[in-house]
Amino acid sequence: MSKTIKKIPIAIPFMGEAEAAAASRVILSGWVTQGPEVAAFEAEFAEEVGAKYACAVSNCTNALHLALLAVGVQPGDEVITVSHSYIATANSIRYCGATPVFVDIEPQSYNINPLLIESAISDRTCAILVVHQMGMPCDLKATIDIARQYNLPVIEDAACAIGSEILWDGKWEKIGKPHGDIACFSFHPRKVITTGDGGMITTNNREWDQQFRLWRQHGMSVPDTVRHGAKQVIFESYPMLGYNYRMTDIQAAVGREQLKRLPEIVSRRRYLAARYHQMLADIPSLKLPTEPEWAKSNWQSYCVRLPNGCDQVQVMQAMLDAGISTRRGIMCAHREPAYSQEKWSCGIQQTDCSCQKGNCAQLPESEVAQDLSILLPLFHQMTEQEQNYIDQVFKANVRLIILTSPDLNKSLDSVP
Ligand SMILES: *Cc1c(COP(=O)(O)O)cnc(C)c1O
Repeated sequence: MSKTIKKIPIAIPFMGEAEAAAASRVILSGWVTQGPEVAAFEAEFAEEVGAKYACAVSNCTNALHLALLAVGVQPGDEVITVSHSYIATANSIRYCGATPVFVDIEPQSYNINPLLIESAISDRTCAILVVHQMGMPCDLKATIDIARQYNLPVIEDAACAIGSEILWDGKWEKIGKPHGDIACFSFHPRKVITTGDGGMITTNNREWDQQFRLWRQHGMSVPDTVRHGAKQVIFESYPMLGYNYRMTDIQAAVGREQLKRLPEIVSRRRYLAARYHQMLADIPSLKLPTEPEWAKSNWQSYCVRLPNGCDQVQVMQAMLDAGISTRRGIMCAHREPAYSQEKWSCGIQQTDCSCQKGNCAQLPESEVAQDLSILLPLFHQMTEQEQNYIDQVFKANVRLIILTSPDLNKSLDSVP
C-alpha cells in the first residue's frame, strides 16, 4: 500500500504564460487598479455575452449586492431565491437588509423550481434572484413569465455560468445577455475562467450601469481616469454612499487573456462531461446531470446523485484514500448557523407554515441534493487516463457500498 498515487484535485485553473505576461505588463505600466485594462475587459466581456453594458467589480458577491441595490431592494423587503446555492447568493440579499425567501429546487437541474415561485410572492417581495447552478442554465423563461406578471425584476446569479447558453426565441444565446434584468459573474479560481478573484455585472439598462460605476468607487463623482487625464484641476464629490468594489487592472489584464481561452475551455469541459456521462451510465441507480433541450451547460461542476440511503461521506472518503478529491453537493444556506437564528421563510407564507418561523425543512429537494450529491473532478488539463481512473474508483466504491448496505440492496438489480 506504499505505492504513491498522483493526487487528482477537484479543479485547477487553466492559466499560463499569457496571463503571467499580462499581469507583468500592467505591473510595469504604472497604472495597477481600475483603469484602461478594466475598461477593455468590460468591453470584451459585454461583446462575448451579448450585453450592452458590463461593469467589473471585485467579486460576484459584491456584484449581486449592487444588482439588488440597483433594482431597489431595501431593508425589510423580501427577495425570492434558493437556499441550495453557495451562501454568497443569500448573503447578498442580507447585505441590503432584506430577507431571502427560499424556494425549493428541481431535483434534476439543481435550479429553482419555477412552479414554486408564485406561492412565495408576498406584498414585500421586491425581486427574484435565480442561480444558474454549476453552470446549468435555470428555467429563465418560466421564471421571467411569473416575474413580469408581478412586475418583479429578475437578477441572475451567473457566478458559474460564463460560456453557458440558453435557447431564446429559437436562437442560442449566452448567459449574461442578460435575459433577466441583471446578470452577475464570478472569476474566483473555482469558476470556469479566473482573475484570482473578480466579478462582472451585465445589463442592458444604462442607468443601472452608471449607478454600478459610482457605487464601486466610493460613490465618487469623477473617476480616477478622468481626473488623471484632466488639463484643469477638478474636485470630485460624493453624492451617495458608495463602496470599494473595484477590480484591479492586474486582474482585468488576466481576465482578458482568460476570455480568449473561453471557447477552448468550454469545449474541453463539454467533452469531459459527455465522457463522464457515457462512462457512468452503466450504474442506473446513479442520477447523472442532464441538459434540458433548451440549455447548454459549461459544466463548471459535474454533479452525480447517489442512490437513496448511500453514505456520501463514505464514498468521498474512499475516493480521497485513492487520491481523488471530490466535493459534496451544493450547500443549503438555511442549514447553516448563520441562518438558524433568523426567521428565514421557507417559501410558504410564514403564518401558514407549521413551524411558524420558516426555517423548517420545507426544502426537501434542496436538502436531499446536498446530502446525496457528489462533485467529481473536472478541469481543462484533466487527461482521459485520469478520468478513467476516477470512473473506475468511483464505480468500485459505489458498488461496494450498495452491496454491503441492506437498505440499498434492493437497487442492486440495476447494478451491473
Ligand atoms: C462562487 C459563487 C458566488 C460567489 O462568487 P465570488 O466571486 O466568490 O464572490 C456566488 N454565487 C454562486 C452560485 C457561486 O457559485
